[in-house]
Amino acid sequence: MSDFRVTLLGTGVPIPSPERFGPSTLVEAGDQKFLIDAGRGATIRLYQLKVPIGRIDVQLLTHYHSDHTSCLPDVWLTGWLESHFGTRKSPYKVIGPTGAKKLMANLERAYEDDIKIRVADEKLPLSGIATDVTEFDRDGPVYEKNGVKVIAFEVDHGDVIKPCYGYRIEYGGRVAVFSSDTRYNENVIRYGKGADLLVHEVAMARPELMKQAYIQRIIGHHTTPYDCGRVFAQTRPKLAAFTHVVRLASIEVPPPSVEEMIADVRKTYDGPLEMGEDLMSFEIGDTVTMQRRMPR
Ligand SMILES: [Zn+2]
Ligand SMILES: [Zn+2]
Repeated sequence: MSDFRVTLLGTGVPIPSPERFGPSTLVEAGDQKFLIDAGRGATIRLYQLKVPIGRIDVQLLTHYHSDHTSCLPDVWLTGWLESHFGTRKSPYKVIGPTGAKKLMANLERAYEDDIKIRVADEKLPLSGIATDVTEFDRDGPVYEKNGVKVIAFEVDHGDVIKPCYGYRIEYGGRVAVFSSDTRYNENVIRYGKGADLLVHEVAMARPELMKQAYIQRIIGHHTTPYDCGRVFAQTRPKLAAFTHVVRLASIEVPPPSVEEMIADVRKTYDGPLEMGEDLMSFEIGDTVTMQRRMPR
């Protein structure tokens, strides 16, 4: 069994769907646990996995769209509680592109009264609710400890949606790469080279819906299945997996099916591929194996 595991906690988008929670991914490497983004429901998924919220060593952020950060106060505050699902005693460590410090400082202000009350009432240690935030503004290593190296790389989520970064996590000679939200981008290919697991976002609308300007705008911020296939074909991961699954629809036009999305990928990529779902996990060893936890 490998001690390098990736679990998709939420594979959704801003839609408040009970099937696909907000974007968030758990990465376990040796004795360390990383959370990439904290979309809606991340704490619920951690609870389902019996991973104490306070056990997260590092919170990584990709960008500041609210669907990726709305559960951040919950991870931070609930992870501090004394119950078995909390128990964080040391500062909440956050690493993200420029903006992370402002976000956390404002959360500290927003929840000031709760923190005061809990310190007075529950005698929770102040050290456990303190934050330790590191910001970066370029490609490169952002964390290195106990054999785990985290490298941030800029992606292209749109002309004004900046900053936005993906992550490459290396451990024990294995590599997991996360695209974050991006349109087709050479940097994902560059940093995706040699990936055992490549987790990529995807977005699709049926052709009849593509006539609408707002749909074109959304698709323009993401990667179509056809273009994801081009990324996978150039990086050749042992396994490619989709998360942040954008399936656009309107009242008249239904969303594309998973089969339609896969069929479009197959025009450009013939290698191993999984359509991600919440609580799907991947063990990264000599091979990459997938496990589902959601009832089908
Ligand atoms: Zn986004
Ligand atoms: Zn997003």
